Amino acid sequence: MSEGAGKKEEKPRKFQAIRGTRDLLPPETLLWNRVEQTAHEVFGTFGYGEIRVPIFEPTELFARAVGGETDIVSKEMYTFSNPKSLPAMVREGRTEGTLAEMLPEAEMISLRPEATASVCRAYIEHNMQQQPQPVKLYYMGPMFRRERPQKGRYRQFYQIGAEVLGGSDAPAIDAEVIEMVMTFFGRLELQGVQLDINSIGDRNCRPKYVELLRAELLKVKDKLGPDSQRRIETNPLRVLDSKLESEQAIIAKLPHIADHLCEECAAHYAAVKHQLEMRGVIYRENWRLVRGLDYYMRTTFEITAQGLGSQNAVCGGGRYDGLVELLGGPPTKGIGFAIGEDRLILSLQESTSSLSASGKGAVATGRDVYIAWMGERAHATAIRAAKDLRKAGFSVELPPVEQKFGKALGQADKLGAKYALILGDNEVSEGLWTLKTLADGSQAKLTEPDLLNFLKREKAKADPSLRSG
Ligand code: ATP
Ligand code: MG
Repeated sequence: MSEGAGKKEEKPRKFQAIRGTRDLLPPETLLWNRVEQTAHEVFGTFGYGEIRVPIFEPTELFARAVGGETDIVSKEMYTFSNPKSLPAMVREGRTEGTLAEMLPEAEMISLRPEATASVCRAYIEHNMQQQPQPVKLYYMGPMFRRERPQKGRYRQFYQIGAEVLGGSDAPAIDAEVIEMVMTFFGRLELQGVQLDINSIGDRNCRPKYVELLRAELLKVKDKLGPDSQRRIETNPLRVLDSKLESEQAIIAKLPHIADHLCEECAAHYAAVKHQLEMRGVIYRENWRLVRGLDYYMRTTFEITAQGLGSQNAVCGGGRYDGLVELLGGPPTKGIGFAIGEDRLILSLQESTSSLSASGKGAVATGRDVYIAWMGERAHATAIRAAKDLRKAGFSVELPPVEQKFGKALGQADKLGAKYALILGDNEVSEGLWTLKTLADGSQAKLTEPDLLNFLKREKAKADPSLRSG
């Protein structure tokens, strides 16, 4: 296509990221990478393997798994049509119609609002029940929900999650999943971590409790706000979730689910708590903890952290036995969690102790070496030096055009470089290069091999973990 052919002269237009989406920029992305790397490492030590699932799936998958009545499915999904039979329609020359006319033949697809449904779909699709059970998978990546954007709540946000699928619902599985998240948060030195757990029963006992709750709520209906009033009909459990000040005293008097669990659920819950204690995981029981997704049963948990205001949940999870079956798979037990990576990172950034150790300071974007070169001969040497230093793992800035040394040193300073390698005609002909330590201004003349050894030694001094290796 010839560029701009037939195009009207267009006025320049500035674009901004769509509301609820954002760019993640350096140096913050260093922290994102560190968090993700830590997840790979910690989850790996628990025997989990990474799964990557598509960004979009049939809308029906989410409607079934997450639940048609949930906020997520009823109003938060980005859904569009995928003209399924388009190739056939094109062959038949039926491409004249508008999209609306093609819709009846189209499949509705949605950007994933969460990943558990996809992981279960993949488990079934790839016959993972034939692998040694349970299958332990983790994932990380963007999710999409059309919510009101605010601090810690975005329309494109990131989750790191894990799922355990298989034949067993042994309480030790629940406890180990929770232990793994807490280990991960511990490794990151996340501050103010609070783990809340609850059991919301199963198909046997929960419906009876929900009815009891509904009956109790109807008695106090006119004292509740409009949201809770509506939820008495649609989902009474969600009333327990209410943050409305005026409703707190009323909610406090409602019956607790713990008193209405069936024998099996009560025993399972007691065993999960015991297993947590054996692992030294500190928890708080929170009878009002219910999760917004339909698939949860028995164990549910949520983890909050500091510095996040009202959006302080960094992780939500629970057991979802039966979900795989609901999606056409074999009877399978399941449990998992999803960490809100955006919030996790916000919390890490808010707590000063992690600042020095993570993205904003120490691991900053600063280069190790800024090469200040002058003259064509020096340029050739500088290119070679940059190549060798980068190969040895140093971050090197090589200015593309010649600069006066003074300006080069100023630039090196601004970029936070540790050293300036000065290469002029003299250095090149003598084979002795000048290395200036920018922190104290000291200078040394070094041969090329000496320079590399010197830098390696200094790096090992700064990072003791490198010394043994
Ligand atoms: P919340 O009650 O905060 O809306 P949720 O119950 O909708 O959370 P889940 O669906 O369980 O959350 O997702 C797990 C985690 O993902 C949450 O604890 C949170 O950290 C994060 N999360 C959920 N929605 C968003 C969002 N819109 N923006 C950023 N993070 C989110
Ligand atoms: Mg939500």
